[in-house]
Amino acid sequence: MNLDSIIRTVPDFPKPGIQFKDITTILKDPAALAYCIDTMATVYKDKRISKVVGIESRGFIVGTALAYRLGAGFVPIRKPGKLPAAVLRQDYQLEYGTDAIEIHRDSIAPGERVMMHDDVLATGGTMQAACGLVKSLGGEIVGLSFIVELSFLNPRKKLSGYDIYSLLQYSAE
Ligand code: AMP
Repeated sequence: MNLDSIIRTVPDFPKPGIQFKDITTILKDPAALAYCIDTMATVYKDKRISKVVGIESRGFIVGTALAYRLGAGFVPIRKPGKLPAAVLRQDYQLEYGTDAIEIHRDSIAPGERVMMHDDVLATGGTMQAACGLVKSLGGEIVGLSFIVELSFLNPRKKLSGYDIYSLLQYSAE
């Protein structure tokens, strides 16, 4: 499947200079959507995953489908103030300033085997922070999965030691 011809790149969104990788054109295409879910599920099917963790908000879509396919539960990581029960919070650096994400404290039990998912891997900062939360809860991170990887930003540098799987890589902007 040639996802590259299906994904939409929107220049200068949400601000000048960003080439936004818009996965909605994949999601609305039945064959492309099935390809994403089925391919990732095949890679992780024998890894005894019990939780898929998805990152707000586009990581929830394919993440939940993957959890269903793997016979696993789904856990959301969200922006601050969105999760209603007791949370663990992780702050992280952006290019300019800081951001934060949260996870429910009771969402993962120590020793659980976890697969992390987001739509786009860019600098890796968000996923690094997300992995920090899961590790703090005692989760064992089995793999990180993405639809798109912006390889030219060198995200794997921040995520060394993790097994990373992406369906589509961009080596140049
Ligand atoms: P990062 O922390 O730099 O790896 O950024 C990852 C988060 O920002 C993900 O949740 C992505 O959905 C979003 N993101 C970053 N860059 C892009 C991009 N060029 N196109 C679409 N989403 C992006």
